[in-house]
Amino acid sequence: MRTLFLILAAVLPVLPVSAQNLPELGDTSGALVSPQMERKIGEQAMREIRFRDPHFVDDPELTDYVNTIGRRIVIASPDARRDFEFFLIRDNSVNAFSLPGGFVGINTGLLLAAQSESELAGVLAHEVAHVTQHHIARLIGKQEQSMIPTIAAMVVGMIVARGSPDLGQALMTMAGASSVQSQLNYSRDFEREADRIGFQFLQQAGFDVGGMATFFERLQKATRLYENNAPAYLRTHPLTVERIADMQNRAQDAAYRQAPDSIEFHLVRGSLRAEEGTPQDAVKEFDEQMRQRRYASEAGARYGLASALLRARNFPRATGEVASLRGLIGPHPMVEMLAARVRTGAGDVQAARELLRAALARNLDYRPLHYAYVEALQNLGQHAAAAAALAELVKNYPRDARLHDMQAKSYAALGKRLLQHQALAEVYFLQGALPAAIEQLQLAQKSGDGDFYQISSVEARLRELRAAQAEETRDAKKR
Ligand SMILES: [Zn+2]
Repeated sequence: MRTLFLILAAVLPVLPVSAQNLPELGDTSGALVSPQMERKIGEQAMREIRFRDPHFVDDPELTDYVNTIGRRIVIASPDARRDFEFFLIRDNSVNAFSLPGGFVGINTGLLLAAQSESELAGVLAHEVAHVTQHHIARLIGKQEQSMIPTIAAMVVGMIVARGSPDLGQALMTMAGASSVQSQLNYSRDFEREADRIGFQFLQQAGFDVGGMATFFERLQKATRLYENNAPAYLRTHPLTVERIADMQNRAQDAAYRQAPDSIEFHLVRGSLRAEEGTPQDAVKEFDEQMRQRRYASEAGARYGLASALLRARNFPRATGEVASLRGLIGPHPMVEMLAARVRTGAGDVQAARELLRAALARNLDYRPLHYAYVEALQNLGQHAAAAAALAELVKNYPRDARLHDMQAKSYAALGKRLLQHQALAEVYFLQGALPAAIEQLQLAQKSGDGDFYQISSVEARLRELRAAQAEETRDAKKR
């Protein structure tokens, strides 16, 4: 949230918002900006990130992992029923941010800098607290309706600023130092509140609550060592000695709780490390680690080595490492998916499909496996089987845009145009792009290749979405 705060701090002074107009810190209702409005702002920003930020990580396994950890924290919060979405940004700087409405971005650099799962969870808990406490909404105060475009612009600015951290600084200078200071003081209160509330979530979720303090402490130390190259988290996020002391005190008062890292924590980190540098460099790095036994988890290092070997297209060695991994941790869906990628790389998509089919039988709840299995079917040109599998899956996960997108692909290959546009409509709908969703349904109507039942279903959905759009227009006019 820090970069966004800096930019908010820079833009707000030109708007008629004074400190007196801002709601009390104790008011967490977010009543001035409705939860629906918050969600809309978040969705709008998400669309920008998803489609315009080349660093957005579109990897189901990595995304599934951060959502599993994030979900544990959300369940411990009062917003347990809200749809949160955690996503990764490929960026080496150690940072995370949250958007209104339940979207939390995590830089891959942060995942790699965290030395334990509880440290990662500590940062996520802080970000979840920003969302549940409606910090942005409270900062925006009464300007909410007319400010939507401004906010969207600021969020886009935030994304740009991620690439050039000095932009936030520049905006601040432009806005004038004195008015910025009062906003910054205000955001420090938010930081303290996010620490305090986040700590409660972390504790209730069963993580080691010392994780927050140790992580921030390590960042602080790194800052002292690299004065001009401080981790982004600190540069954009006011962190004081006082905040660390607060976290340590809270951790001391709480009963110590051991929270061993999940195996996935190590596999995910191995996978991210394997993508650094050239494939040859990555292989060399992991070979070195294995030789010197210089790793926190052998499975993580081996998984990294196998992934690096896959990148280097050394399929025989990668296959050997996958076999060692199976010996080490038994059958694991992430290992089986890696095995399937190695087979696909070696040109045997059929073997990959069989590996995935077998793994699915043991892990029916692991969605990345479903995606990979359907993709294997699609790669083999078995679109009827893919469409059948997807039809079942969307019944279980109707809010999964990726599934609808895959469905559209198979329907297109099968020449089923009504179904293709209908599936695309759901993709847009789930991304909060109502007009585009309606357009797809109209295309579905005009396709002329559906049966009576399918045409009625498109018409019914079109009526629903038009009603939703009319409601939005009505709300907009009330502003
Ligand atoms: Zn924060």
